[in-house]
Amino acid sequence: MCKQRYRAYSQYLKEKHGCKVYKLPVNLPVTCPNRDGGLGRGGCIFCGQSGAGFESLSEQMPVKIQLDKNMKYIGEKYGAKKFIAYFQNFSNTYMRPDRLEAYLYQAETPGIVEVYISTRPDCISQRHLEAAGRFSEKTGIEVTFELGLQTVNYHTLAKLNRGHSLAEFINCVLMVRGAGFGVCAHLIPDLPWDSMEDVVESAKVLSALGVGQAKLHSLYIVKGTELARLYSEGRVRLVSMEEYAQRVIAFLEHLGPDIVIQRLIGRAPEEETLTANWNTSWWKVKEYIEAQMVAMDTWQGKRFDYLGGKAVRKFL
Ligand code: SF4
Repeated sequence: MCKQRYRAYSQYLKEKHGCKVYKLPVNLPVTCPNRDGGLGRGGCIFCGQSGAGFESLSEQMPVKIQLDKNMKYIGEKYGAKKFIAYFQNFSNTYMRPDRLEAYLYQAETPGIVEVYISTRPDCISQRHLEAAGRFSEKTGIEVTFELGLQTVNYHTLAKLNRGHSLAEFINCVLMVRGAGFGVCAHLIPDLPWDSMEDVVESAKVLSALGVGQAKLHSLYIVKGTELARLYSEGRVRLVSMEEYAQRVIAFLEHLGPDIVIQRLIGRAPEEETLTANWNTSWWKVKEYIEAQMVAMDTWQGKRFDYLGGKAVRKFL
């Protein structure tokens, strides 16, 4: 029953591909313009040295070898047959379009049914989209872009040292969707500088833009980051697990019912963090949120009633 209260990614993939589909992380030798000085230095205040790819293989390993190794392991362990190549770490379009295209072709291997490319909203041009389009057309492999946003509150984005504001995200979604690709947006609902209103507004903006998928994770404190320094000095107060759940539920209530939820909470790299997920297993937090949704008798899209001219509906 819980699972039907929001549109879960695993179920969506099963319906789309006829079986369980596994995401395989791919580590490219890339960086990020917010780290190498292209736009800024130091990166987002929460971003560690390994970016988001703490479970990935070495970026020196060719893409095909990374995929083969992971496919063999997951295939043998779970009997999996279909996979998504996930270009996960740092900004995977921060490169020339022809280089991106070459990496995409390296992911064309039996069993790969989709490619997901994680990147920043200011790292995609029309030429990058054309490169991805050529790949998709020739191979029949669908490409989805995962864009880090974290929040629609542009004051908070500045505090996070993101190096972009909300406008770049809106522009990027319009470009990517206009080129026929899917978009997944990453958000952190428990940013201490944000209120419940910001979280609700994030859901409304994603819904209005027609984003296809959303991926949520809590704010965890990675050692050695600027956020770790602020946290250690007592200058950042993290929100409680109960408040995280309430923010996630409000987010889901205001989100369009068709938007696929990749996850409600992320898995944190324990040895690299000062604190993460309230020292609780991610699946326990997930189950807690789902139980709260049952207790509140609520669901994704319950409050999705604000688009398409709400005020003039009575005249129609
Ligand atoms: S944009 Fe992504 S990779 Fe770059 S610093 Fe921020 S979190 Fe890290």
